Amino acid sequence: MNIELIEEEGELFLYVPSNKRFAEIKELLSKIKNDTINVVKVDRLSLDQMKLIWSLCNDYGELRGYTREEMREALENEFCNSKEIEYFSISPFKRDCCSMKVATDFIQFIIEHAIKHDYNLIVYEGKGDNRVAKRLQDISPDIRRYVIQCLLHKRCAVCGKLVEVDLHHWDSVASIGGYKHDDGLQTRFLPLCREHHTEFHNIGKDRFSNKWHIEGVMLSKNLVKKLKEVYPNHFQAFKEGKNDI
Ligand SMILES: [Zn+2]
Ligand SMILES: [Zn+2]
Repeated sequence: MNIELIEEEGELFLYVPSNKRFAEIKELLSKIKNDTINVVKVDRLSLDQMKLIWSLCNDYGELRGYTREEMREALENEFCNSKEIEYFSISPFKRDCCSMKVATDFIQFIIEHAIKHDYNLIVYEGKGDNRVAKRLQDISPDIRRYVIQCLLHKRCAVCGKLVEVDLHHWDSVASIGGYKHDDGLQTRFLPLCREHHTEFHNIGKDRFSNKWHIEGVMLSKNLVKKLKEVYPNHFQAFKEGKNDI
């Protein structure tokens, strides 16, 4: 549990967990000499990260028929195995909780896991009238990785729809001399369903990205190679082996 030292109007207050006895605390304090205090900054996940992990596990669990605890355990096992790290607590009040960085990676992992398995997660924040639905692009710690996962799984990056998803050129193809010059490496890409594709061409790049908080991403050669299998008619100018280092 966290101990907090706070200054209020020139006086110092030490807030300690209520499970410690006063006598215990006083004894500890009596040992402290001003010049021997070691200040230790602890890197632990934030409360917001913990809440987000629980919301994701809750929604994902509901879709798959598990409780949020079961879902968290299964996902965390998979995550820890893939990273070869120890199982951790997601409560910042526990001694074995994870760092902020690990929590960020875990959140991204859950989002990509859901996309890979074709589940459309929506996370709710706030209560009552203030309750708002958040889409994955709004909560992804790494938006580029989110878009790439959508590209690989033919998923609309705006609404999560999985049918009739097109590979949309975020930057105009005319600017590179047309489709026959498209090797996948000159423009940014975004996967969109028919509805959002049409909307993009109606309202334009700027309004679209302001409305949906998303943009296309540049691809690497490796990704183009993978995406050629997903979108066989695309990247007409991409030749495997060409320009290889
Ligand atoms: Zn869509
Ligand atoms: Zn398009």
